Amino acid sequence: MTIRAAAKTLDRVIESAPPQLIVDICDHLPVAVWVARAPGGEFVYANRLFDEIMGTGPVADAAVGGYSGPYGIRNQAGEPYPEDRLPFVRALRARTTVVVDDIVIHRPDGRRVNVAAHARPLLDAEGEVTYVVIAFVDTTATAAAQREHLAAEARYRALAEEQQFLIEHMGDFVYRHDTDGVFYYLSPAVETVTGYTVDEWKHHYTRYLTGIPDNQRVIELTERALRTGEKQTPYRVEIRHKDGHPITLEINEQPFRAGDRVAGLVGVARDVTERTRHEEEIERLNASLREQTEELERIIHVASHDLRTPLVGIEGFAVQLGEALEQLDETEPEGRRALSAEMGDMVRRIESGVRRLDTLLGGLLRLSRLGRGDIRREPVDMNALLGCVAESIAFQLRAAGARLEIDDLHPCRGDAFHLEQVFSNLLDNAVKYLSRDRPGRIHVTCTQMPGRLEYRVIDNGIGIEETMRGRIFDAFYRLDPRQTRGEGLGLSIAQRIVRRHGGDLQVEPTEGGGTTFVVSLPA
Ligand code: ADP
Repeated sequence: MTIRAAAKTLDRVIESAPPQLIVDICDHLPVAVWVARAPGGEFVYANRLFDEIMGTGPVADAAVGGYSGPYGIRNQAGEPYPEDRLPFVRALRARTTVVVDDIVIHRPDGRRVNVAAHARPLLDAEGEVTYVVIAFVDTTATAAAQREHLAAEARYRALAEEQQFLIEHMGDFVYRHDTDGVFYYLSPAVETVTGYTVDEWKHHYTRYLTGIPDNQRVIELTERALRTGEKQTPYRVEIRHKDGHPITLEINEQPFRAGDRVAGLVGVARDVTERTRHEEEIERLNASLREQTEELERIIHVASHDLRTPLVGIEGFAVQLGEALEQLDETEPEGRRALSAEMGDMVRRIESGVRRLDTLLGGLLRLSRLGRGDIRREPVDMNALLGCVAESIAFQLRAAGARLEIDDLHPCRGDAFHLEQVFSNLLDNAVKYLSRDRPGRIHVTCTQMPGRLEYRVIDNGIGIEETMRGRIFDAFYRLDPRQTRGEGLGLSIAQRIVRRHGGDLQVEPTEGGGTTFVVSLPA
């Protein structure tokens, strides 16, 4: 049926009494229908759903220019709907179907109902609009769902923007790559941290790893995580920053799955260069503190033992001296003479004990002072330094009939005053512990090693048994105290000085007999 025929039919239906069947059908339509006469807009027909949606029956005296009030027609903002925008008026004007979906009905019972209306004009044979049929549905539920949907979308967008903002502005960079190491995502902070752009990093990052052995281990760990899907413990990797300096990154990455297989890794990389440096510094200080504590404990142990020996002697002789004094008055002149001679000897022994104590305490003081104060780092002319030392032992050398040979020595960086103490002690010992069986020969050499300089004081003297070599650096330790004079402190002081320079003092046997001391200093 054409529209025109349909209109005629409707006209007839409306003009005459409508058959009950058509009324029933219209009352069961799932849309509200309302028909108004053109051009005035007087009500002609409304079905049952009209009443249900509008919350009222058709208002008989409502017409164009006066719809909004009686039917409670409002816009989305709650204002009366403009009369000239109402579906009837617009369809009349447009002479074709119009759709209006922003109407809100404020019903007499207080409910608000959103409606979407299709208004269609019916034309007669002359093309004049005779009626307008308006069909509308309750879109309240759909509108609410749409509002909820829009709100959820806005919330989601805000959240996504917030996350993106955080990712792009945090100091660490984050990434996600597949099992072949192809990146899905890499945050722009990569450039702040490494100097490389996102694109450079994506395509060449393995080139930036430095050659430290740990980096190989890192690659193995990543491959294992991708193979097994097991969580990675955070690890560190050293890379070269675009401007060339090495930086340490701490990587915290975890495998992710797609279905039941591992699909790649997500990770966060943080620049921990400074932190690593501090940790290493703390570790170094701890090690040096441990070493110093152990050394101090050794010194305290040895010192308390060595200091007691002369003290016991002094105490013994003082007691004897007291007893002798008591006897003195009662003794015959002969006996008195003998007794006072004996007393003189006791006094001398007490004095010698006190001197020994004084020497030991003086040595301890010197040793303790070395733990404090700064060690200078200045260029030291080692030829000049050894020249001075050689001069100061010239007399002993001559007396021992020994020959001293000093090679051309490479300069070093250090504290000349303290280094002179070291070499003075080593050369002093070299002369002191020469062998009577062969002419004495002392040789000072220098070898340049990667990152350090090794100075050797080589003698062909009595040598040191292998089992004793570890102990000679202990404070107050002397291999054979009866043979030569000394405090047993020279080597512990020398070793302490060299270590405070960041080097070490070692002893080794000289080929063919004798002792060699190796002073190793950072270059
Ligand atoms: P001191 O020489 O005052 O005894 P040191 O600390 O300088 O104290 O030396 C400790 C001990 O190491 C010495 O008593 C000696 O037994 C041994 N020693 C040191 N230098 C040599 C050397 N060049 N040859 C053999 N023994 C040495």
